Order: sequence, then C-alpha cells, then structure tokens
Amino acid sequence: MRQHLASARHDLSLEPRQAYAGSRIERAAFYRGDDAALAAMTADDRAHYYVIAGELAVLKKRGETFDPLFSPPEAAALGAARDAVFLGLMDEAPRFGAGLDAEAVAPLKARDDLKLIDLRTIAVQAIVAAEHVPPLAEAKSVLGWHARHRFCPNCGAVTALAQGGWRRDCPSCKAEHFPRTDPVVIMLAIAGERCVLGRSPRFPQTMWSCLAGFAEPGESIEEAVRREVHEEVGLTCARVRYFASQPWPFPSSLMIGCHAEALTDKIVIDRSEIEEARWFDRDELKLMLTRKHPHGLTAPPPIAIAHHIIRDFVEHGGDVLA
Ligand SMILES: [Zn+2]
Repeated sequence: MRQHLASARHDLSLEPRQAYAGSRIERAAFYRGDDAALAAMTADDRAHYYVIAGELAVLKKRGETFDPLFSPPEAAALGAARDAVFLGLMDEAPRFGAGLDAEAVAPLKARDDLKLIDLRTIAVQAIVAAEHVPPLAEAKSVLGWHARHRFCPNCGAVTALAQGGWRRDCPSCKAEHFPRTDPVVIMLAIAGERCVLGRSPRFPQTMWSCLAGFAEPGESIEEAVRREVHEEVGLTCARVRYFASQPWPFPSSLMIGCHAEALTDKIVIDRSEIEEARWFDRDELKLMLTRKHPHGLTAPPPIAIAHHIIRDFVEHGGDVLA
C-alpha cells in the first residue's frame, strides 16, 4: 500500500535552473556512421563548433558578452583539433565539438579576443546563453573521454576516432570502445521532517549538501544509495525514490538524484569521506535555500541537482518518499 505522509507545504518561489540538462540538440545518431553526410555538414554554412581546450571552454568576446560558437574556419584558426565530434543538430544547424590539447590553453588565454573558462563558472555566472550550456557539457565530456582513451585497454595499440566521435576503434585487436558515463548516486536521507546533509572538506565554508558517491559494478541505484549513506554517516535506509538526474561534465558523470527513508537516527561520520554531517529540519533548509539562515549556512546553488533534491523535500516533506 502506498504510504502518504501529510506534510506542510512550503512555496520557495525559486526559479528552477539546473545546469547541463535540457539540451535542445537533436543528436541525429544516424549520421554518425555516414562519413559523406558528416563531411557535407562540416561544409554547411550553418555549421558551428564548440571548442574545448584541456578542461576549459573557449569563448569569443563580443563586447560585454561571450559567444561559444566558432565557424569551421574560426575553429581551425585556433589550432589543430586533436579530436572532433558530431554533437548533433540545433534547429537543423550542425553542431560539432573540437578538442584542443591542454598545451593550447596558454597561448589562447593570452589573446584579448577570447576567454577560456571552466564549465562550472559558465553555469554559475550564466555568461553564455542557456541553450549553449548542455552542448558545451556534451562536448567536454565526450572530448575528455577521447583525450583519456588514446590507447586500447584490451591490447595497448593506438586507437582511432570513429562514428563521428562516438566510438574509438582498435586497428590491432578490432575492439570497439564507447564513451563512458559514470553513474553517481546523490541522495537525501529523510526521517519525518528531518534529513541529513554533509560537508566535504572541499566545499565553501558555509555550504552543506546531499551525500553522494559512485555506483559500483553489480549495484542497483537503490543499493548504491543505501551503501553510500551507510558508509558515510552510518544510517540504515529502506525505501529509495528516484527524483531526477543531471549530466555532470567533471569529467563525465550522471548524477542520479534520490530521496531515501532513514530507519535509524545515530550519525557515525566516515571522516575519510566527509568532514561533518548532521540532521536538518525543513524550516532550517528553507532558510538555507533562500540564503536567510541566521548563521549564514547555505545549500548548493540551483545549477546543481542537490539544490533541487533538497528543495523538493522542503516543498513536499515526506511525500517525496510516497
Ligand atoms: Zn586493441
């Protein structure tokens, strides 16, 4: 029987703005194996590249604003791309990603007409139009995978980019390798009106967030959530409810957001993973989300799925586990 917990409702009146998800790109995967079509799209007047150098996106300065789109000649003028990927079509216009070596970063950074910037800052500061953030994340993740997979993990031979950038092929053992996405569970353990947040040593001083960790081989999402909560704070969880997910291009994760029902109360912190953890009630979380906490405590910003997992609990209480 579905359990329905009556909880007071909070309306936070915050605009949802989760970064990297909600892409307008149509991936048009059927073109990936069609070299003639890919060549024709590269020559199309509407074709543009997103350019990634090392870990950074390359943007054109346009007065006070920034443009992430480079025409094929503009992209080529930045330097020889180590890898190029067909990202898909945006309003029928071909979109590609070009990956430059990390050594290209310093000379490009010295130029007045360009800005090189990480994708976290792009999302937090909203310095490019929102429609560009998901394809930049797509480009960074898949180009980063190419940069880290130049050699066949099966036999050690040098591999070659194939399928418009969506595969690497080994000429020696004929193995085919596909871009990876690493699943990360990120969750809020809940008991009644309270939930557990933790602090990692790398967080800003006042910020608290959801617990999180990589799902391991042989685990379901539910099992990974229960294991991570138990490892990090010693709590036992029962029900796990999926909330939403977010691509996270650092370097190539999929954040799988969940709420979990905590059956136990006593927190035992694993200091090798987190610095601090404690229970918070919904009223305190509301103050953190709206930046009105009397001690200045904060929750992650709306670009991160953690913000929305916490917000959903503040707005709907125990109903998130129904
Ligand atoms: Zn091989």
